Amino acid sequence: MTDNISQSTDQTSLDTQQQSLSPESKGEVRSVTHGPILEVNDLKKHYIDSTGIVDRIRSSTPGRVHAVDGVSFTVSRGDTVGIVGESGCGKSTLAETLVGLKKPTSGNATLFENDIHEWVDQNRKRFARNVQFVFQDPSSSLDPKMTIRELIREPLEVHNVGTRDHQNGLVEDTITKVGLSVDQLDRYSSELSGGQRQRVGIARAIVLEPQLLVLDEPTSALDVSVQAQILNLLKEIQEDLDLTTLIISHDISVIRYLCNKVLVMYLGKVAEMGTTENIFNNPSHPYTKTLLESVPKVGETDAKYDEVNPNIPSPRNPPDGCRFHTRCPVVIPPDDFEFEQNEWRAIFDYKLDLRSSKLTYKKIASMADQQGIEKNKANMMELVRDQYALKETLSDSAAQKILTESLTDLIEGETDSAYQTIAEVFQSPCEQKTPSSSAVTDDHEAFCHLN
Ligand code: ADP
Repeated sequence: MTDNISQSTDQTSLDTQQQSLSPESKGEVRSVTHGPILEVNDLKKHYIDSTGIVDRIRSSTPGRVHAVDGVSFTVSRGDTVGIVGESGCGKSTLAETLVGLKKPTSGNATLFENDIHEWVDQNRKRFARNVQFVFQDPSSSLDPKMTIRELIREPLEVHNVGTRDHQNGLVEDTITKVGLSVDQLDRYSSELSGGQRQRVGIARAIVLEPQLLVLDEPTSALDVSVQAQILNLLKEIQEDLDLTTLIISHDISVIRYLCNKVLVMYLGKVAEMGTTENIFNNPSHPYTKTLLESVPKVGETDAKYDEVNPNIPSPRNPPDGCRFHTRCPVVIPPDDFEFEQNEWRAIFDYKLDLRSSKLTYKKIASMADQQGIEKNKANMMELVRDQYALKETLSDSAAQKILTESLTDLIEGETDSAYQTIAEVFQSPCEQKTPSSSAVTDDHEAFCHLN
C-alpha cells in the first residue's frame, strides 16, 4: 500500500514537474487537472506545551496547545488563497504542516490525492520540488557566502534540472521575473536591500515552477515603502505563472489585494471562508466583521492592520462551543429572557469572568482599596457594575432578580455561589455547541450558530 502510494506519488510529481518545466507543455498540464489539487481534511496540529522549571519540579502534566484544531478546505489550481487571522490563531502552524515541516496530530492533507506527510516521509526531495515555501524573513533562508546566481541555481542543482547552461538560462529568466537584473547575479545577499532579498527568496521558490507556493507573511519583515513593491511583484508573478498559492498574513489588506479566496481563522479553527469578494463585501461571521472593522480607513495615520483585541483566549485552553463566544458582540442570549444585545454581552462577560476566576470578591476588594473607596455593599456593587457595564435595571425583570442575587453573593464574599446562581440560567448556545459549517451562498461558508 505504502509502496504504491510512493510510486504513484513519485511518478505523478515527476510527470508534472517534467511537463511544467517544459514551456510547451505547461498549458497542457494545467488543463488536464480538474477540481481541487490540495485537500485539507480535519487537520489538527497540537503542540505539547513545554513545561517550565516550576512545573517540572511539581511534575505537572504538560498542556496541549490547540494551534490548528480541525481545519478543512480545498484549493483549486490557479487559486490564491489567503489565510488570515490575528496573531496566534494558527496560520503559520497550518502553513508549516501543509509544506511538510510539521506532522499533523490528526487529519490529513493531500496534494494531487497523495497524502502530503506520507510523501514527505518517503521522498522529501520530490515533495519539495512540488511545494515551495517563502519565509517571512528573507535573510534567514539566504546563505551569505553564496552569490545570487548560486542561490537561485541551488534548487535546480539539488533537483538535477537540466545542464549547467539550461540552469543558467532559467536563473537569468527568473531573476528578471522577480524584477532584478542579470547584473545583480554576481552579488551577495548582504549587498542587497531587504526588498531585493525577498525578491531573491521568491526567485528561489519559483525557479522550479512548483505546483503549490506557500508564502508566510511575505511582506511583514519589510519596510512599509517596499511592501507595496513586493505585493505588486507577487500579483504579477501570480498572473504570469498561473501559480496555485497560499498566502498567510495577519494583514487583511494584503490578502484582499492578492487573493481570490479567503479563509478566516480564529483560535485554530476556520470561522469563515469564501471568495475574496464575498468575504469583504458580505462577511457573515461576527469575527470576520470585527476583523474588517478594525482595519484603519484610508487617510488614517496607521495604514496597517491593527490587532482586534489583545485579550484573545489562549489556544492552550480554548473556549468550548464557538471559540469566539468570549468576545462575540452578537453572542446568542438564552431563550428564556428578553435581553437587549449589549445587556446580554455585559452579563455574559460577568459570568465568564466569574467562571474563570478573573472576577472574585478579593479582586473587587483590592480594586476598591486601590481606588480608595470604602468597601461597603453599595460601593462594591457599583464597582462591579462599572467594570462590566451592567445596567442597574434590565429590560427583563426575571433576569434582573437573578443577576442581583448573584451580585449580592459576590460582594458578600461568596464568589462560588455568585457563579452558581447564574451558571445554568444565563447560558448561551454559543458556549455549548461547536458551530458546524453553513452555506452563506455558493462558495461561501461560515461557522456560526446565527446562520
Ligand atoms: P500565527 O501564525 O497565527 O501567529 P502560530 O501558528 O505561530 O500562529 O501559533 C499558534 C499557537 O501555537 C500560538 O499560541 C503559539 O504560541 C503556539 N505555538 C507555535 N509553535 C509552538 C511550539 N513549537 N510549541 C508550543 N506552542 C507553539
